[in-house]
Amino acid sequence: MSYDTLMTQSLSVKCKLIVPIELRSDIDQTLHGFADACNQILQVAQRDQCWNTNKLHHKVYKPVRESTGLKANHVCQAIRRVIGNAKALKQIHKFRPTSISLDVRTFKYVAATQSVGVTLKSGRHNFKLSIGGYQIALLRGQNLTSATLNRTRKGDYYINFGVEIDTPPTGKTPKVIGVDLGRRDIATTSTGNSWSGEKIQAMRDRYSKVRANVQRKRTRNSRRLLRRLQGREQRFQKWLNHNISKQLVQEAKQLDCALAFEELTGIRESLNQKPRSKTERRRTNNWAFFQLRLFVQYKALIAGVTVVFVPPAYTSQTCCRCGHIHPDKGKPYRSGKRFKCGHCKLDHDADVNAALNIAALGVSFVSAPERPGLCCQLQGQSSLLVNA
Ligand SMILES: [Zn+2]
Repeated sequence: MSYDTLMTQSLSVKCKLIVPIELRSDIDQTLHGFADACNQILQVAQRDQCWNTNKLHHKVYKPVRESTGLKANHVCQAIRRVIGNAKALKQIHKFRPTSISLDVRTFKYVAATQSVGVTLKSGRHNFKLSIGGYQIALLRGQNLTSATLNRTRKGDYYINFGVEIDTPPTGKTPKVIGVDLGRRDIATTSTGNSWSGEKIQAMRDRYSKVRANVQRKRTRNSRRLLRRLQGREQRFQKWLNHNISKQLVQEAKQLDCALAFEELTGIRESLNQKPRSKTERRRTNNWAFFQLRLFVQYKALIAGVTVVFVPPAYTSQTCCRCGHIHPDKGKPYRSGKRFKCGHCKLDHDADVNAALNIAALGVSFVSAPERPGLCCQLQGQSSLLVNA
């Protein structure tokens, strides 16, 4: 595997479509047709236990096209969607008419006019994109081969373009800032910066109390109120994550460093395995690490800052000075916010200690990405979503 392939990132660039009123029903009909097709295909696949794209194609293509009136490539994409979902989710639910997968034959992005041509059931239509500098920069010069068209609950339409972006290779002696994402502090860097989570946690707790109250009373307006509360909470979260990610990327850019994070896939599961209080569980699951990482990734791409992900094992129980790994059980290595090494007697801020370990792992990954061992769990591929 070469350095270049290792460091490409696939991401999805979200762009709002400007849809004239008279074309809304054309899109909606296509969305319904696509969901219909997916549900029919799913039935056949389940009945015959057939999860092979080609074999399934032979079984369903003709009847599905006839009953839905979709174009040929829509049906092919529906088959892919069904099989992809079955593999990714294991448990399968009914498809709802909220999105359709597109391929080279069913969409075309036109940079000159910032518009996109989309094939619907009724034929090809052009839509203007309502997008900003971020999206234009990410789409520039891209050979776009996949996209999805989505309808939000509010009735807005978006298109998500799948793009592949090479992250710039770094110099010979990489410098890396490690970032530890925690619960008490949202983020702590190996350079000693941290963003306290107290304020946002207080806000979340307040909202959750209000929510519980509203749910208990079940008044007529409670649903609307709940949605509004949720919206406010999410906007605050988003604002905060934008701020933190901006500062992280700025610091990395100024110091000419890469940023290293822990690979967080599956963090919810592993954290939830331990019995925890209800409050504790809610906090973990709500925590918007994912969004923060996302924002960092796309800000970093534009700023030319490299982002790497390291395996999360032992980063908080390893001593950053002597490298001693403290067993989970046995002698405690943490006391409050301090990390206390039982080996070399280091006494350090626990989050900064973890961030320093992440930075050290990050260095080995940036300088020798092809070396197995430390980075064997990483493919350098990650997907992210760029929000408008
Ligand atoms: Zn030590």
